[in-house]
Amino acid sequence: MSGGYRFARFPLVRRSGPLVFRVQCEVCAEIGPQAETGDAAMMWAVLHLDDHPGRELFRELSSTPYRAEPHS
Ligand SMILES: [Zn+2]
Repeated sequence: MSGGYRFARFPLVRRSGPLVFRVQCEVCAEIGPQAETGDAAMMWAVLHLDDHPGRELFRELSSTPYRAEPHS
């Protein structure tokens, strides 16, 4: 993970704050609710598999908070 991204119009800077986790089914692309931990997010996969047998491929998504900073 980088500390930021620099674009011509503004830099995006990593800001403090927790990561956010979600889980996506790779068969139907449905995404579960946001959670504070990967373990909590993965609970959705269990429920999704109960509702849709055979959908056995999942992906954990974690997101990092950023802030766009104006040029000084
Ligand atoms: Zn699915």
